[in-house]
Amino acid sequence: MVDEIPLSRPDVGKDEERLVLEVLRSGRLSQGPYLEEFESLVAERAGCRHGVGVSSGTDGLHLVLRALGIGPGDEVITTPFSFVASSNVILMVGATPKFVDICPSSLNMDPERVEAAIGPRTKAILAVEALGNPTYMDAYAAIAGRHEIPLVEDCCEALGTTHQRRRCGSFGRAGVFGFYPNKQITTGEGGMIVTDDEHLAATCRSLRNQGRPIPKPGESTLGTWLAHERLGYNARLDEMRAAVGVAQMRRLDSLIEGRQRVARAYLTRLMHRSELTLPTVDEATDMSWFVFVVRLAAGWGREERDRIIASLRRHDVGASDYFPCIHLQPLYRELFGYKEGSFPIAESVSQRTIALPFYTQMTDREIGFVVQTLELMLVREGMSR
Ligand SMILES: *Cc1c(COP(=O)(O)O)cnc(C)c1O
Repeated sequence: MVDEIPLSRPDVGKDEERLVLEVLRSGRLSQGPYLEEFESLVAERAGCRHGVGVSSGTDGLHLVLRALGIGPGDEVITTPFSFVASSNVILMVGATPKFVDICPSSLNMDPERVEAAIGPRTKAILAVEALGNPTYMDAYAAIAGRHEIPLVEDCCEALGTTHQRRRCGSFGRAGVFGFYPNKQITTGEGGMIVTDDEHLAATCRSLRNQGRPIPKPGESTLGTWLAHERLGYNARLDEMRAAVGVAQMRRLDSLIEGRQRVARAYLTRLMHRSELTLPTVDEATDMSWFVFVVRLAAGWGREERDRIIASLRRHDVGASDYFPCIHLQPLYRELFGYKEGSFPIAESVSQRTIALPFYTQMTDREIGFVVQTLELMLVREGMSR
């Protein structure tokens, strides 16, 4: 037997501990040098000029939509197959999400449907690298450009990934990363807006900090600290978390290598299972791997999937149903009247997904145990069909 194998586990070590202690002893717990260093490390990795650290990925997306002036009466095109935050932020600014169905291999929005969905009230495209896959980001950027609307990239699942040699975070007017403990790097809670647009970056800096004007370099904060130009929030990222982020960014390459090793091991061991569809990665993509999600083949249904997840958990193997469709969440059914059948491809995919344990420190023995247990469940379910 092996111990319980969690769905995910953060990889934090001595460097993170050392930097946090240093911050705690320094007396400077917010808006200090670690925030600045963390912002430049993430911005550089995303191929963008500016980074704005915020308290979460959700807050980052919210601030970007606010900074773009999106509000009541506006529509934002987005995907129903994602973590709920990518759509909730559209509701937070009072706008309406306009969902378009996905394509079944990349699990990202079908570009033709995106273009067809653009109407007079469409003010932005909010695209997500679903399960970390960046396919079509370049296509969405081209569509947004043709229609002169901004593309907002929710790259919370894609730090360190490149597509056609472009870095995730750099496809749209702005990109947003999240640093929850299951992401490629973590700060516990935290997020980062990245952009080349200086004005947008400055507006986001003000919004995260109570709507304060941002003093120019060298300028005194007298007269600006208690001035509030716009409705702002407190979405600041403190120095303890920024220090953890700096330590994580310094070893991002080895964290990604660890994820790639586990993904390769799963792919090799599960390749021959006809009951499964494995994640498809475009040739032009270098994936940093957010999660490892397999899908039961067409013809299998939700009940079988749910039973498999439940039995994996009974065998101490963490597993989950990433992601239930957003339009079928109770809030969205109530607000917009969505039902089963509204976005058939997203629904069909999301009923059959199984997220498997995935983290850098996973041993071959653990991977082997997960694969064996999953295979046992597949055979069992297959026999009772
Ligand atoms: C994690 C995630 C978010 C939100 O990030 P938080 O930091 O948890 O607020 C947003 N969108 C997607 C697609 C995510 O995976």
